[in-house]
Amino acid sequence: MVVKNICCLGAGYVGGPTCSVIASKCPEIKVTVVDKSVTRIAQWNSEKLPIYEPGLDEIVKARRGKNLFFSNNIEKAILEADLIFISVNTPTKTFGNGKGRAADLKYVEGAARMIADIAKSNKIVVEKSTVPVRAAESIMNILKANNEPGVSYQILSNPEFLAEGTAIQDLMHPDRVLIGGEETPEGQLAIEELCSIYEHWIPRKSILTTNTWSSELSKLAANAMLAQRISSINSLSAVCEATGADVSEVAVAIGLDSRIGPKFLQASIGGSCFQKDILNLVYICESLSLPEVAAYWQQVIDMNEYQKTRFTAKVVQSLFNTVSGKNITLLGFAFKKNTGDTRESPAIHVAKTLLDEGASLNIYDPKVEESQILYDLTHPSICESPEEVKKLVKIYPDAYSATNGAHAVVICTEWDEFVTLDYREIYRSMMKPAYIFDGRKILDHEELINIGFHVQTIGKRLPR
Ligand code: NAD
Repeated sequence: MVVKNICCLGAGYVGGPTCSVIASKCPEIKVTVVDKSVTRIAQWNSEKLPIYEPGLDEIVKARRGKNLFFSNNIEKAILEADLIFISVNTPTKTFGNGKGRAADLKYVEGAARMIADIAKSNKIVVEKSTVPVRAAESIMNILKANNEPGVSYQILSNPEFLAEGTAIQDLMHPDRVLIGGEETPEGQLAIEELCSIYEHWIPRKSILTTNTWSSELSKLAANAMLAQRISSINSLSAVCEATGADVSEVAVAIGLDSRIGPKFLQASIGGSCFQKDILNLVYICESLSLPEVAAYWQQVIDMNEYQKTRFTAKVVQSLFNTVSGKNITLLGFAFKKNTGDTRESPAIHVAKTLLDEGASLNIYDPKVEESQILYDLTHPSICESPEEVKKLVKIYPDAYSATNGAHAVVICTEWDEFVTLDYREIYRSMMKPAYIFDGRKILDHEELINIGFHVQTIGKRLPR
């Protein structure tokens, strides 16, 4: 079989960009991205795409209606496809009175059931979603149970390593593409089919093939290792603040060691979507009766959580230990720059804690919609009602109006535009004494101190 028709279940941050790049690199393949959400598909078919990614608009506009389609007609797309990506969300579920957390696979299961119910011809089913190890086995069980006579499936694991904000760049020039499949002749043939799609633009030496379980585990392991580096440098940032060392200098010094390398050594308030994947790993280890391994990775999560708590406590302490009735501005709400995604954003933690302590918040983010911010702050609600949160939170269209009259500014996302703001102007319009808490270490702290601000950041003790 030569793949001529691809369907992708899930038009999100992964499904949308990935399939847009495939459509642009493989004009002979028809690519249909489907979603249950009517709104999301309407946005993909509109001028304003549902997600912001540098370079995405151009690709979608060049291919949409030619060989790239966005649709809610899931049945038609599954029936026509030779190869189906499952790229649905895998959020975290809590259980046992909130103590246990694991990947919620209900959407993956739902997607597998849809394929099983609809398919009338052989399919290659590709796990794009990040799933626990051996999820392919559960998917296969569902597919086999509802099998049409004569229809066969091959399941591949092809985890996505893109990072939001650089998704198109990552998809165009990935460090590697990983494809896992069964070690049977049919499994190997399916791997070759998927390889031949990626080979349109990725050199064969960058496409790594493994068995299914190695591929599934590698995605969790990659994210766990990245999170571990961040939690290591974050833990050192606390030591720096207590001793007078500067975490940026420490990061450069250790990053020059070629065994360590400089990447992912940026201490900050947090800001990664790794947590849910490590939780996934922790849960798997527990279910495999490997409690010591689970505890090891749990510590990585705890350290990154501690960083957010520590930073927010510092904000409150610096403001005379009370923020009640104070006006605090959050600059940035996305979990990182160049995305409008707020999932696992440290800004949510900061905002909820400050609201809980009685502060009023002014929030500005260049890409996050007001409705998303209010949704994040009211689910689950910390106040009596969402209405109460709305009374305490104001969303502004720019940084200057958001900081006007504020007691303090907290940098929650490292947007480039925050670096070049006119901080003299901002200082003039703020209540005095004026405070800046740079949770992303992006500002010129000396300059801010010279202007008159009291400044706090991560991993460095500042004179005021
Ligand atoms: P997302 O929430 O942006 O999109 C998922 C979409 O799937 C939603 O629009 C939802 O409506 C749709 N959906 C759910 N069930 C469906 C079904 N049965 N049929 C059709 N559509 C359905 O999620 P995302 O960020 O694109 O992530 C998808 C997967 O990729 C997750 O497992 C995630 O962990 C993984 N991943 C995400 C990133 C990232 O940076 N966002 C990077 C690598 C891997």
